Amino acid sequence: MNSADFPELSSALTAVRQAAAVCRSVQASMDPAALEKKDKSPVTVADFAAQALICRQLQFDFPEDRVIGEEGANDLRTAEGATFLKQIHAECEAVGVACSKDEVCAWIDRGNLQEYRPRFWTLDPIDGTKGFLRKDQYAISLALIVDGKIVLGILGCPNLPVNSAEPDGSRGVLAWAMAGAGSWMVPLDDSGTSPVKLHTTGTAETADARFCESVESGHSSHDWSGQIASSLGISRDPFRIDSQCKYLAVARGDADIYLRLPTRKGYQEKIWDHAGGVILVEEAGGCVTDIHGVPAEFTHGRTLAANEGMVVTNGQFHTRVVDAVGRHAPTA
Ligand code: AMP
Ligand code: MG
Repeated sequence: MNSADFPELSSALTAVRQAAAVCRSVQASMDPAALEKKDKSPVTVADFAAQALICRQLQFDFPEDRVIGEEGANDLRTAEGATFLKQIHAECEAVGVACSKDEVCAWIDRGNLQEYRPRFWTLDPIDGTKGFLRKDQYAISLALIVDGKIVLGILGCPNLPVNSAEPDGSRGVLAWAMAGAGSWMVPLDDSGTSPVKLHTTGTAETADARFCESVESGHSSHDWSGQIASSLGISRDPFRIDSQCKYLAVARGDADIYLRLPTRKGYQEKIWDHAGGVILVEEAGGCVTDIHGVPAEFTHGRTLAANEGMVVTNGQFHTRVVDAVGRHAPTA
């Protein structure tokens, strides 16, 4: 597989690498005292700077394209936002992008598309902000959607061990998938090595499975997943990890199942929390639907309005897992 055949891939990989560099630099300089005070400003700065840099690259290479992202620049243009804007601008310049503050705001606003288009990108510049603040796992997620189908997905995971068997080894993974061309990964810091093709596990019995879920019980119900695990005979502890690193965990075989179970009726999942990860798992041989077995629909603008929660498996026992999710659904 060759990125020269698909210029979107090389452009997006460059953009995600640059955003990862900013995230790492902000995280490295984070003051532990600020964390204790639950100060979220470091993640705000990194989040906006990453969105600015990715939208800048996409604007340069694909000027017609717009991006459905989480952030807009309106607040940065206010008096209260000025300090943030100054820091965001400084982070962009620190990775070699000479620019004005107005340009930074304009790039961020390119990522503020609200409605569906036949061709658009979706971006989560820092997925897993709580993991970022804990100096744990987070992901930069970017995907290209054409006619409602994800054609390209990229996850940059700056803190993820390159080899899951060596949790204390080198960290930083860049993974991508293109429709019909498989899922791949390289170490984030090394653009020279040959990409490794990703495959989901061959685990055939749910009793042997390991499942992953959010660290935050407010994002996915731990009570419900516990009941599902019991009914599927799963005895291994859940693998709790922030962000779309969960999709990568299933795609590369660190886990067999990822459950995202609504904590309340009416929550609509955001497309940027899923698109990059969904194609990564599907192209690695896995299966992704919502909790009702319905495929994710990326045609409703910013949210997965036609779906509820998400069930991700290695592809071996998807229906059994969806059935168990339904059997244990809370009655309320
Ligand atoms: P995770 O790291 O898997 O816990 O997911 C982080 C994402 O959860 C964030 O990007 C939010 O968009 C999303 N999120 C926020 N509130 C909720 C909620 N109530 N249910 C599901 N996801 C949520
Ligand atoms: Mg997110």
